[in-house]
Amino acid sequence: MQEKILQQSIEFIKGVGPNRAKMIEKELGIRTFGQLLNYFPYRYVDRTSFHKIRSLHGDMPYVQVKAMLVGFKEAGFGKTQRLIGIFRDDSGELEVVWFKGAKWIIKKLVVRDVYVIFGKPTSFNGKINMSHPEIEHVIDYEKSGAFGIQPMYNVTENLKKNFVTSKILAKITYQLITYVKERLPETLTEYIINKHQLIPFKEAITQIHFPDTFERLAKATYRLKFEELFYIQLRLLHKMEVRKKQYAGFVFEKVGNIFNDFYQKNLPFELTNAQKRVIKEIRADMKTGTQMNRLLQGDVGSGKTLVALMCMLLAIDNGYQAAMMAPTEILANQHLATIVKMLDGLNVNVELLTGSTKTAKRREIDQGLLDGSIHIIIGTHALIEERVKFRNLGFVVIDEQHRFGVAQRAKMWKKNNTPPHVLVMTATPIPRSLTMTLYGDMDYSVIDELPPGRKSVKTFHMRDSDRLKIFGFMKKQIEIGRQIYIVYPLIEESQKLDLKDLMDGYESISRAFPLPKYKLSIVHGRMKNEEKDFEMQRFVKGETQIMVSTTVIEVGVDVPNATVMIIENAERFGLSQLHQLRGRVGRGGDQSYCILVTKDQLSSDGRTRIGTMVRTNDGFEVARVDLKLRGPGEMEGTQQSGVQHLKLSDLVKDKEILQEARATAGEILHNDAALEKEENRCLKNIVTRNRQSNHLSWSDIL
Ligand code: ADP
Ligand code: MG
Repeated sequence: MQEKILQQSIEFIKGVGPNRAKMIEKELGIRTFGQLLNYFPYRYVDRTSFHKIRSLHGDMPYVQVKAMLVGFKEAGFGKTQRLIGIFRDDSGELEVVWFKGAKWIIKKLVVRDVYVIFGKPTSFNGKINMSHPEIEHVIDYEKSGAFGIQPMYNVTENLKKNFVTSKILAKITYQLITYVKERLPETLTEYIINKHQLIPFKEAITQIHFPDTFERLAKATYRLKFEELFYIQLRLLHKMEVRKKQYAGFVFEKVGNIFNDFYQKNLPFELTNAQKRVIKEIRADMKTGTQMNRLLQGDVGSGKTLVALMCMLLAIDNGYQAAMMAPTEILANQHLATIVKMLDGLNVNVELLTGSTKTAKRREIDQGLLDGSIHIIIGTHALIEERVKFRNLGFVVIDEQHRFGVAQRAKMWKKNNTPPHVLVMTATPIPRSLTMTLYGDMDYSVIDELPPGRKSVKTFHMRDSDRLKIFGFMKKQIEIGRQIYIVYPLIEESQKLDLKDLMDGYESISRAFPLPKYKLSIVHGRMKNEEKDFEMQRFVKGETQIMVSTTVIEVGVDVPNATVMIIENAERFGLSQLHQLRGRVGRGGDQSYCILVTKDQLSSDGRTRIGTMVRTNDGFEVARVDLKLRGPGEMEGTQQSGVQHLKLSDLVKDKEILQEARATAGEILHNDAALEKEENRCLKNIVTRNRQSNHLSWSDIL
């Protein structure tokens, strides 16, 4: 009943009518009462108090004064011609300047009457004045009710042209609030409101549009942010709960011979504490009988692959098969090589399946997966094809998951009646607040420690003009036996241009590093897979010293002997990509370097990005800056998530609110998993309603 009122068309608000309603819908997408109430001001103007003229100075924002018009004078010629009105209050005199509309002003304003003047004070020739302020007769001002804190709404040019200004929108909203306020249903439960000392919904809506004081505005904003984040978290946690109930998971009880043999005989190094902890977390999950859907984050080079491998061995020990999916063929190949080497001497059958696997081999693999003789399959998207069937797939690892679409990923689920346990790994970490919102319906592990003995990569910013210096440095590194990456940007729209950049670069490098002393590899997106692989393998084996490439080598590739990463046109890369590329070096024990080459002039964002890279090696810190620069809507993986629809909350600034909202959502579901209790009815209604406009999520089973 109450809900219905919010569905009504704004057409019926006084002063709107069908034409304006249509226009507002077209320009702002606002059709209903509810939508208008949710169209919040982007800022506020303080008209709560009058300033004394004597107290004005040039650094003030918009202020209002109440003063009497004592006279006019004219000044200047031509372009500088202007009308000056002199206003006086009991503290001093203010000059108000008009460069246009003098005639009209003189006609409209009456000398010796009192006006309310609202504008920005500026200091000019040692005097304070205001140009083109809003001016209103004090009597009109008092009638208009335009005191207090005024909301400013975003309106389009088109609306303005049709006289729907911010002011008009405020008037309409005011009408609406007066009309519906008492009938607005509460949207949170009493328990939540008391626990977090929130103000009631109808108060919050009123105050966010027409605040009485800035304190109340702050309370309203807090309440509405809390609510926004709370419902996202409630939905995510609810979903996780439902999934865990709905799908039984395989139980991996034992640690068997393969795992133990590997641990005792093959493991080439001590696990880091973080790796041990994460393996424990995963093992605990796999014993519970509910299906695991876990996100593993860890900085580049933190050793996620090894964790994944050891969990795969657990699956095998318990009689199941495991699969690992990587976004590129290069990476899949590399995983195969690493894993085969790691498992040397153990009785584990590992195979590779990609788009370029030959037909005969494919048949063999299909058969091996079906009869269970293949224990681990590593591959690309080829793994999710319908025809790939398993005997008993128990565990799936998805590496660099941001490269896969949600739908693609979900297909791995369907390989069994009981879905396998799933571990997804990210390339570059993202801040916890964003993780909670993007992947809030998954379990979460983090490797927050790099293997010991890693020297952090030294990062330098250089200009195109430093080319000779860079070449000299490269030669020295090659002399001591190291290898070098040189990366050029690749941006979809201008592939041709980029390819030219790459080819020109390759040519000049070939000249500076001539055969037979130096050998170069080149890899780019236009090459056939076999060619790419061939070149990549030459570099991996150390047959070439320099790898010139586009960003195809961005993810995952591991060549410990490579110690220099040169990124050309570095200003064209995003922060997470730069960090990911830098992660290609510093993987062995030798000191590594990352050289960011840019043109001379950088944008302010560009400077921040390069500066951040030079300043820190910490992926989480890089991610924080990235989130600040770009906002959550622009980050990878957010497109499907709905974070870009956040109206009020800011995942950087509102971390604390988010944490509280999530904790409370968790607590409520813990006591009432299906939201069946009477006291939680309003939560259930809203969750159900929101679900209809739901977005896909990373944990979705399609
Ligand atoms: P990422 O987390 O970026 O996928 P990798 O799994 O590729 O990182 O690991 C990076 C490198 O670190 C590999 O060469 C790997 O063999 C090595 N490594 C992994 N764990 C350890 C460890 N505990 N001690 C030493 N080196 C390790
Ligand atoms: Mg990796």
